[in-house]
Amino acid sequence: MKVTVIGYWHAFPEAGEAASGYLIEENGFQVLLDCGSGVIAQLQHYCKLGDIDAVVISHYHNDHIGDIGALHYFRLLQPVISEEPQQPITIYGHKEDPDGFENLSFQGTITTEPYAADKPLNIGPFTFTFYKTTHPVPCYAMKIQSEQSALFFTADTGFSTELAHAASGADLMIAESTAYKGEDGASFGHMTSEEAGQMAGLANVPHLLLTHLPHFGDHDQLVTEAQNECPDTKVEKAAGGWSKIL
Ligand SMILES: [Zn+2]
Ligand SMILES: [Zn+2]
Repeated sequence: MKVTVIGYWHAFPEAGEAASGYLIEENGFQVLLDCGSGVIAQLQHYCKLGDIDAVVISHYHNDHIGDIGALHYFRLLQPVISEEPQQPITIYGHKEDPDGFENLSFQGTITTEPYAADKPLNIGPFTFTFYKTTHPVPCYAMKIQSEQSALFFTADTGFSTELAHAASGADLMIAESTAYKGEDGASFGHMTSEEAGQMAGLANVPHLLLTHLPHFGDHDQLVTEAQNECPDTKVEKAAGGWSKIL
Protein backbone atom coordinates (compact mmCIF):
# COMPACT_ATOMS: atom_id res chain seq x y z
CA MET A 1 0.00 0.00 0.00
CA LYS A 2 1.35 3.40 -0.96
CA VAL A 3 0.13 6.49 0.91
CA THR A 4 0.59 10.01 -0.49
CA VAL A 5 -0.47 13.21 1.25
CA ILE A 6 -2.36 15.42 -1.23
CA GLY A 7 -3.47 18.02 1.33
CA TYR A 8 -3.19 18.41 5.08
CA TRP A 9 -4.47 21.86 6.10
CA HIS A 10 -7.15 22.52 8.66
CA ALA A 11 -10.12 24.59 7.39
CA PHE A 12 -8.69 26.03 4.15
CA PRO A 13 -5.62 25.48 1.95
CA GLU A 14 -2.58 27.75 2.00
CA ALA A 15 -1.39 29.05 -1.41
CA GLY A 16 -0.71 26.21 -3.86
CA GLU A 17 -1.76 23.55 -1.34
CA ALA A 18 -4.87 21.65 -0.24
CA ALA A 19 -7.06 20.79 2.75
CA SER A 20 -7.68 17.13 3.68
CA GLY A 21 -6.83 14.59 0.97
CA TYR A 22 -4.78 11.35 0.88
CA LEU A 23 -4.12 9.00 -2.03
CA ILE A 24 -3.98 5.28 -1.19
CA GLU A 25 -2.75 2.92 -3.91
CA GLU A 26 -2.16 -0.78 -4.33
CA ASN A 27 -1.84 -2.87 -7.50
CA GLY A 28 -3.00 0.05 -9.64
CA PHE A 29 -6.18 0.61 -7.58
CA GLN A 30 -6.41 4.22 -6.38
CA VAL A 31 -8.53 5.52 -3.53
CA LEU A 32 -8.78 9.14 -2.46
CA LEU A 33 -9.50 9.67 1.25
CA ASP A 34 -11.35 12.97 1.63
CA CYS A 35 -11.61 15.63 -1.05
CA GLY A 36 -11.06 19.00 0.64
CA SER A 37 -10.51 22.36 -0.98
CA GLY A 38 -7.58 22.32 -3.42
CA VAL A 39 -7.34 18.52 -3.55
CA ILE A 40 -8.41 18.11 -7.20
CA ALA A 41 -5.65 20.48 -8.40
CA GLN A 42 -2.94 18.93 -6.23
CA LEU A 43 -4.02 15.33 -6.93
CA GLN A 44 -3.08 15.75 -10.58
CA HIS A 45 0.60 15.99 -9.58
CA TYR A 46 0.37 12.32 -8.52
CA CYS A 47 -2.22 10.61 -10.75
CA LYS A 48 -4.72 11.15 -13.54
CA LEU A 49 -8.16 12.16 -12.29
CA GLY A 50 -9.70 9.58 -14.61
CA ASP A 51 -7.73 6.80 -12.91
CA ILE A 52 -9.27 7.30 -9.45
CA ASP A 53 -11.40 4.24 -8.60
CA ALA A 54 -13.00 5.36 -5.35
CA VAL A 55 -13.32 8.29 -2.96
CA VAL A 56 -14.04 7.79 0.74
CA ILE A 57 -15.33 10.81 2.66
CA SER A 58 -14.90 10.98 6.46
CA HIS A 59 -17.54 13.69 7.02
CA TYR A 60 -19.23 16.63 5.36
CA HIS A 61 -17.22 19.60 6.65
CA ASN A 62 -15.93 21.77 3.80
CA ASP A 63 -12.25 21.07 4.46
CA HIS A 64 -13.03 17.41 3.64
CA ILE A 65 -15.52 17.75 0.76
CA GLY A 66 -14.83 21.20 -0.72
CA ASP A 67 -13.59 19.82 -4.05
CA ILE A 68 -16.28 17.17 -4.62
CA GLY A 69 -17.95 19.71 -6.92
CA ALA A 70 -14.73 19.96 -8.98
CA LEU A 71 -14.68 16.16 -9.28
CA HIS A 72 -18.31 16.20 -10.46
CA TYR A 73 -17.54 18.73 -13.19
CA PHE A 74 -14.48 16.72 -14.28
CA ARG A 75 -16.72 13.67 -14.65
CA LEU A 76 -19.23 15.72 -16.64
CA LEU A 77 -16.57 16.99 -19.06
CA GLN A 78 -14.41 13.85 -19.21
CA PRO A 79 -16.26 12.28 -22.19
CA VAL A 80 -15.88 15.57 -24.10
CA ILE A 81 -12.15 16.07 -23.47
CA SER A 82 -10.98 12.44 -23.71
CA GLU A 83 -11.80 9.60 -26.07
CA GLU A 84 -10.79 7.01 -23.50
CA PRO A 85 -13.73 5.14 -21.98
CA GLN A 86 -14.78 6.56 -18.63
CA GLN A 87 -14.01 4.11 -15.86
CA PRO A 88 -16.51 3.89 -13.00
CA ILE A 89 -15.88 5.74 -9.77
CA THR A 90 -17.69 5.31 -6.46
CA ILE A 91 -17.84 7.84 -3.64
CA TYR A 92 -18.42 6.37 -0.18
CA GLY A 93 -19.90 8.43 2.66
CA HIS A 94 -22.04 7.95 5.75
CA LYS A 95 -25.78 8.62 5.69
CA GLU A 96 -26.17 10.25 9.10
CA ASP A 97 -26.39 13.58 7.31
CA PRO A 98 -28.80 12.72 4.45
CA ASP A 99 -28.16 16.00 2.59
CA GLY A 100 -24.39 15.50 2.87
CA PHE A 101 -24.67 12.02 1.37
CA GLU A 102 -27.09 13.17 -1.33
CA ASN A 103 -24.70 15.94 -2.39
CA LEU A 104 -22.02 13.36 -3.24
CA SER A 105 -24.12 12.44 -6.32
CA PHE A 106 -24.27 14.54 -9.48
CA GLN A 107 -26.36 13.91 -12.58
CA GLY A 108 -25.49 10.23 -12.75
CA THR A 109 -21.78 10.96 -13.28
CA ILE A 110 -20.72 9.16 -10.10
CA THR A 111 -21.94 6.16 -8.10
CA THR A 112 -22.41 6.64 -4.34
CA GLU A 113 -22.41 3.99 -1.64
CA PRO A 114 -23.06 4.40 2.09
CA TYR A 115 -20.79 3.02 4.80
CA ALA A 116 -21.57 2.36 8.45
CA ALA A 117 -19.65 1.68 11.64
CA ASP A 118 -20.54 -1.99 11.93
CA LYS A 119 -20.02 -3.00 8.32
CA PRO A 120 -16.48 -3.40 6.99
CA LEU A 121 -16.34 -2.68 3.27
CA ASN A 122 -14.14 -4.20 0.60
CA ILE A 123 -13.01 -1.45 -1.76
CA GLY A 124 -10.65 -2.83 -4.41
CA PRO A 125 -7.77 -4.59 -2.62
CA PHE A 126 -8.57 -2.85 0.69
CA THR A 127 -10.87 -3.61 3.61
CA PHE A 128 -12.19 -0.45 5.26
CA THR A 129 -13.50 -0.49 8.81
CA PHE A 130 -15.18 2.68 10.14
CA TYR A 131 -15.17 4.12 13.66
CA LYS A 132 -17.26 7.05 14.91
CA THR A 133 -15.13 9.97 16.07
CA THR A 134 -15.71 12.73 18.63
CA HIS A 135 -16.60 15.71 16.44
CA PRO A 136 -19.43 18.31 16.22
CA VAL A 137 -20.91 16.50 13.19
CA PRO A 138 -20.96 12.74 12.46
CA CYS A 139 -17.46 11.78 11.33
CA TYR A 140 -15.68 8.46 10.85
CA ALA A 141 -12.10 7.38 11.36
CA MET A 142 -11.05 4.40 9.27
CA LYS A 143 -8.70 1.45 9.31
CA ILE A 144 -7.60 0.47 5.84
CA GLN A 145 -6.13 -2.99 5.50
CA SER A 146 -4.48 -4.70 2.59
CA GLU A 147 -2.90 -8.15 2.54
CA GLN A 148 0.44 -6.79 3.70
CA SER A 149 -0.26 -3.69 5.77
CA ALA A 150 -2.69 -1.44 7.60
CA LEU A 151 -3.24 2.30 7.80
CA PHE A 152 -5.33 4.13 10.41
CA PHE A 153 -6.75 7.59 9.64
CA THR A 154 -8.33 9.42 12.60
CA ALA A 155 -10.16 11.96 10.38
CA ASP A 156 -11.38 14.83 12.63
CA THR A 157 -11.73 13.91 16.29
CA GLY A 158 -11.14 14.77 19.90
CA PHE A 159 -8.94 12.37 21.88
CA SER A 160 -10.47 8.88 22.05
CA THR A 161 -9.15 5.73 23.72
CA GLU A 162 -11.60 3.73 21.58
CA LEU A 163 -9.95 5.03 18.41
CA ALA A 164 -6.51 4.29 19.86
CA HIS A 165 -7.52 0.67 20.44
CA ALA A 166 -8.98 0.48 16.93
CA ALA A 167 -5.66 1.74 15.53
CA SER A 168 -3.68 -1.01 17.22
CA GLY A 169 -1.76 -3.07 14.67
CA ALA A 170 -1.61 -0.31 12.04
CA ASP A 171 1.73 0.33 10.34
CA LEU A 172 0.98 4.04 10.12
CA MET A 173 -1.45 6.31 11.98
CA ILE A 174 -2.42 9.54 10.25
CA ALA A 175 -3.75 11.61 13.14
CA GLU A 176 -5.15 15.08 13.22
CA SER A 177 -3.25 17.65 15.27
CA THR A 178 -5.24 20.82 14.84
CA ALA A 179 -3.94 22.41 18.04
CA TYR A 180 -0.69 22.84 19.98
CA LYS A 181 -0.09 21.32 23.41
CA GLY A 182 -1.94 23.32 26.06
CA GLU A 183 -4.60 24.65 23.70
CA ASP A 184 -8.24 23.57 23.89
CA GLY A 185 -8.84 21.22 20.97
CA ALA A 186 -11.48 19.10 22.69
CA SER A 187 -14.19 21.81 22.74
CA PHE A 188 -14.04 21.88 18.94
CA GLY A 189 -13.77 18.11 18.42
CA HIS A 190 -10.07 18.25 17.61
CA MET A 191 -6.81 17.03 19.13
CA THR A 192 -3.67 18.76 20.27
CA SER A 193 -0.24 17.45 19.28
CA GLU A 194 0.08 16.04 22.81
CA GLU A 195 -3.18 14.08 22.45
CA ALA A 196 -2.23 12.77 19.00
CA GLY A 197 1.03 11.52 20.51
CA GLN A 198 -0.83 9.92 23.42
CA MET A 199 -3.17 8.16 21.01
CA ALA A 200 -0.23 6.81 19.01
CA GLY A 201 1.40 5.64 22.25
CA LEU A 202 -1.77 3.84 23.36
CA ALA A 203 -2.15 2.26 19.93
CA ASN A 204 1.55 1.31 19.99
CA VAL A 205 1.90 2.16 16.29
CA PRO A 206 5.43 2.39 14.85
CA HIS A 207 4.77 5.55 12.83
CA LEU A 208 2.63 8.66 13.39
CA LEU A 209 1.96 11.34 10.79
CA LEU A 210 0.45 14.57 12.14
CA THR A 211 -2.04 16.23 9.82
CA HIS A 212 -4.95 18.72 9.68
CA LEU A 213 -2.36 21.26 10.78
CA PRO A 214 -3.03 24.77 12.11
CA HIS A 215 -2.38 27.99 10.20
CA PHE A 216 -0.09 29.47 12.82
CA GLY A 217 2.96 28.62 14.90
CA ASP A 218 5.77 26.22 14.02
CA HIS A 219 4.67 22.74 12.92
CA ASP A 220 8.00 21.29 14.10
CA GLN A 221 6.81 22.15 17.62
CA LEU A 222 3.79 19.88 17.06
CA VAL A 223 6.15 17.03 16.17
CA THR A 224 8.24 17.57 19.33
CA GLU A 225 5.16 17.77 21.55
CA ALA A 226 3.68 14.56 20.08
CA GLN A 227 7.02 12.73 20.14
CA ASN A 228 7.35 13.34 23.90
CA GLU A 229 4.19 11.25 24.41
CA CYS A 230 5.23 8.26 22.29
CA PRO A 231 9.03 7.80 22.45
CA ASP A 232 8.92 4.46 20.59
CA THR A 233 6.97 5.86 17.63
CA LYS A 234 8.49 7.73 14.69
CA VAL A 235 6.62 11.06 14.47
CA GLU A 236 6.47 13.25 11.37
CA LYS A 237 4.34 16.12 10.13
CA ALA A 238 2.34 15.94 6.90
CA ALA A 239 3.43 17.89 3.82
CA GLY A 240 2.09 17.94 0.29
CA GLY A 241 3.61 14.95 -1.55
CA TRP A 242 4.77 13.16 1.62
CA SER A 243 4.68 9.52 0.65
CA LYS A 244 5.36 6.12 2.14
CA ILE A 245 4.99 2.49 1.09
CA LEU A 246 3.58 0.39 3.93
ZN1 LIG B 1 -14.52 18.47 10.66
ZN1 LIG C 1 -11.45 19.17 9.18
